[in-house]
Amino acid sequence: MPLSIDLTNDQTRADIAAKSVASSKGDKVCLIGLDRAELADVLVEAGIPPKQARMRASQLWQWIYWYGHQDFSAMSNIAKPLRSLLAENFTLARPELVEEQISEDGTRKWLFRFPPRGAGKPVEVETVYIPESDRGTLCISSQVGCTLTCTFCHTGTQKLVRNLTAEEILMQLIVARDRLGDFPNKDAEGQGFVPDGDRKVTNIVMMGMGEPLYNFEHVKKALLIASDNEGLSLSKRRITLSTSGVVPGIERTGSEIGCMLAISLHATNDELRDEIVPINKKYNIEKLLDACRNYPGVSNARRITFEYVMLKGVNDSLNDAKELVRLLKGIPAKINLIPFNPWPGSNYQCSDWDQIEKFSDFVNANGYASPIRTPRGRDILAACGQLKSESERLRIKEREALNAMHAMVSGHGE
Ligand code: SAH
Ligand code: SF4
Repeated sequence: MPLSIDLTNDQTRADIAAKSVASSKGDKVCLIGLDRAELADVLVEAGIPPKQARMRASQLWQWIYWYGHQDFSAMSNIAKPLRSLLAENFTLARPELVEEQISEDGTRKWLFRFPPRGAGKPVEVETVYIPESDRGTLCISSQVGCTLTCTFCHTGTQKLVRNLTAEEILMQLIVARDRLGDFPNKDAEGQGFVPDGDRKVTNIVMMGMGEPLYNFEHVKKALLIASDNEGLSLSKRRITLSTSGVVPGIERTGSEIGCMLAISLHATNDELRDEIVPINKKYNIEKLLDACRNYPGVSNARRITFEYVMLKGVNDSLNDAKELVRLLKGIPAKINLIPFNPWPGSNYQCSDWDQIEKFSDFVNANGYASPIRTPRGRDILAACGQLKSESERLRIKEREALNAMHAMVSGHGE
């Protein structure tokens, strides 16, 4: 069994290989992140008769994803000897939660530490929860660092350390639910489920650290489990994957995952996009928008979100707004204007607030919804593009610089 696992190739097998490596070292195999067939397979390996395995996998699935249980001994519909066998071989333990920060606006940021996979080191990952009056959105990371180097993005300054596994992607959602009390309490009367209206995490967005389409297999697996009706049961319409424009992955996202799509556009001509979103040199605006036009399932009821970061004097003129409207013609779209979130060392400024409003008014008047995304959690560095691992996080001096930046941007009508 190889100890060093290349997660970019045949990731499903690598997942299982990693789990087997873990168990061969005496660690228990974590059952989170396996699809139903894989779950049945590992049960057989542990000695459960193949005839029972599928039924047992279904029971476990419910305990793991519906009820969020971590303790095999409390799984009341499973016979006691079997519960012991499960506990001896497997685990549902959560990863180490290094830090939980709560912003003055209620945004929460969690810092997880995941154990090494293969020969690597432990990695740290950030996940952000953004409560709003009508929804609660969890922003999930797909990679540690990023191979792309968008010039306005903090994550882009951290080299790719590794892809996250399906288990690690799902753990971000599961621990968020643990912390927010989103799993039903099986034992309390009438508590077999949390009604939709009471759920804290109603939406998830793959907009944390990393480029999800460069970790496609793991992201797909995690999102299919997150949307499974017998498990975490989030509607695919409430799951959004954001990409900087990995064109070959876009069609696959629609056909194999079926979730909503967001595109980090940020510029209306190739010259500027080449500079600020360098993947544009590989897949230019025309190719990107073609893939959007053909996105499986796109319609007026399932519009694509185009994200557009507002950079002062760079991409925020009314001419840019005009170009944007022209480019998106014929694509069912909504445009999310994101005020640039500064980070220490960044070379941009956020556009003036009245310019953002003018831009938004123009796009709106031309038929596209263009909400301005209110920056959330800036005080805990949880806003878009501000995420980076603890290991690379701010030193005191940098924090001071950041506070000074906050003072500068606070006049923007937030
Ligand atoms: N890699 C993916 C998803 C993560 S980034 C992508 O690029 O789409 C999530 C969103 O935050 C993207 O639209 C990204 O362009 C935006 N973003 C990055 N840095 C930002 C910053 N400093 N201020 C505002 N938005 C930023
Ligand atoms: Fe990577 Fe997205 Fe940041 Fe670009 S914006 S560097 S793709 S995380």
